[in-house]
Amino acid sequence: MVYKKYERHIPVCLECGDQIRYGRADKKFCCDECRTRNYNDKARKSRASKRRVMNALSRNYEILDNLIKADVDSADMLSLASMGFMPSFMTSFRKCGKHDECSCFDIRYIMTGTRIYSISKIENFD
Ligand SMILES: [Zn+2]
Repeated sequence: MVYKKYERHIPVCLECGDQIRYGRADKKFCCDECRTRNYNDKARKSRASKRRVMNALSRNYEILDNLIKADVDSADMLSLASMGFMPSFMTSFRKCGKHDECSCFDIRYIMTGTRIYSISKIENFD
């Protein structure tokens, strides 16, 4: 007769990797310190990624705003890229007929693969 040894699955702490030898089977951390550290790391990463997006949007906005102030309503992607414009960051997007209409806060523009044009302020933007 063969007796199979019963092997209990021992969970490991998501923060330090130590085995969690007691407590509920779905426990994720070995101690409060690990739980807190994990929460703080996640919160810090989340804040950092929001900051990156907000910085990109602010930079784009400043570039677009400067173009409007200079009476320029169109620019090619290469020039925009050299100014630091990041085309994938915008606050809204919609297909408008054959065009891709984008906006960065209260500035609207149409984007193609090679340029943006019709850069203008949205009237009555709230
Ligand atoms: Zn731990």
